[in-house]
Amino acid sequence: LMDFPYTHILVLGLAKSGTAAAHLLLANEKKVRVNDMKTKENDAIVTELKMMGAEVIVGSHPVSVLEDIEIIVKNPGIPYDNSILTEAVRRDIPIITEIELAGQLVEGSIIGITGSNGKTTTTTLTTEILRESKHPVKVAGNIGLVATEVAQTLAENESLVLELSSFQLLGIEKFKPKIAVLLNIFEAHLDYHKTMENYKEAKFNLFKNQTEDDYLIYNADDLQIVEAVKQASSKKIPFSINKRLEKGIWANDESIFFKDEKIIDRKDIVLVGAHNLENILASIAAAKLCGANNDGIYKVLTTFTGVKHRLQFVDNINDRLFYNDSKATNVLATQKALSSFEQETILLAGGLDRGNEFGDLLPFLQHVKAMITFGETKEKLKKIAEEANIETIILTKDIEDAVRKAYSVSAANDVILLSPACASWDQYRTFEERGDMFIKAVHKLL
Ligand code: ADP
Repeated sequence: LMDFPYTHILVLGLAKSGTAAAHLLLANEKKVRVNDMKTKENDAIVTELKMMGAEVIVGSHPVSVLEDIEIIVKNPGIPYDNSILTEAVRRDIPIITEIELAGQLVEGSIIGITGSNGKTTTTTLTTEILRESKHPVKVAGNIGLVATEVAQTLAENESLVLELSSFQLLGIEKFKPKIAVLLNIFEAHLDYHKTMENYKEAKFNLFKNQTEDDYLIYNADDLQIVEAVKQASSKKIPFSINKRLEKGIWANDESIFFKDEKIIDRKDIVLVGAHNLENILASIAAAKLCGANNDGIYKVLTTFTGVKHRLQFVDNINDRLFYNDSKATNVLATQKALSSFEQETILLAGGLDRGNEFGDLLPFLQHVKAMITFGETKEKLKKIAEEANIETIILTKDIEDAVRKAYSVSAANDVILLSPACASWDQYRTFEERGDMFIKAVHKLL
């Protein structure tokens, strides 16, 4: 740990990231106390950490765990109104997350990516473009890989792409990405952050430590973001899907340009949707600033079918294009998916009934020629389809049934889109399981 002048450290909350942080700190000869609510005294992890020299307190959060503590490494999931943390704030004990430690471990470049939506897609695309350009790179963070663990395996010249949530970003002190990407800010997680101001502040932490040697890639179509980045010291690279940007990255109807150099024609790109175009622009800029080349960009954008279950292109079967957007568990996400296509579309939707109505889908159904519904909300969705004067409306049992019926009413060049607008729990354990069933059913058509 290059610049971490603390000896007595409390790791609050274990899970994957807390355990990794404790291991790292112990390996650096720090005095580590671990406190976790859910872990039991006889769990293997407790014995293991004790053997490594940690003091371990599980089952409750007594205020005494703060004794002699200089800094707290907090699991991002623990809210700040936890009694230990309010007391720590009162005592001026700094509270960081594991991301701060990861930052201390990396000598090469860090690309830090945040936003309310599009993080995983942008993180994945950026990493893939760098890989295809033969630039040594690893990926970690909110995407599901613990940042400190991955950071320890980096070679000297290797870059680290980090997907960062607002929860992770709240707990940073000196962390500073060489390249920061700020995609967008929508109202989200207000149960945790309490106010929109807090939430924005967390997101803006991404660039607060950047200097004029660093880069900040940001969404120039988002006024809040344009305003916020004025405070940043970094070199700014705006992106826009609406206007030409001499010093940034942008797209018109035909192509994508980086500072007026043409990068790729849009017709060659597999990913669909305006939101994905934004993710693509941000990824190209981040990867290019990190050393990627145009061949790498071309290779990835002409083959990448999307992150699984997020408007993922599944297959072309007899000229029907199948897309899996099982992650769309609300109306807003399905609106986005529907606006991504101009072709005639057959929509597969339905799932858990949360008591909401689906009227907000109406303006997005113009090019929907058939609606295939399933799950608890199938009748409600049928009503909306009738209001939209959709010719073909079919109620089905489950995803497999829905795929077969969709195919039977389809014609060449149709899009067949699973974008349920509902959670999956009435019939499937997770949206992933639902998406996997869809993919399987599509391949059974062959
Ligand atoms: P995250 O990791 O931030 O949750 P993902 O890349 O997993 O984001 O995408 C999740 C969903 O968010 C997508 O299916 C899409 O509906 C929406 N989305 C993705 N990118 C954007 C974007 N740039 N702007 C708005 N919405 C987006």
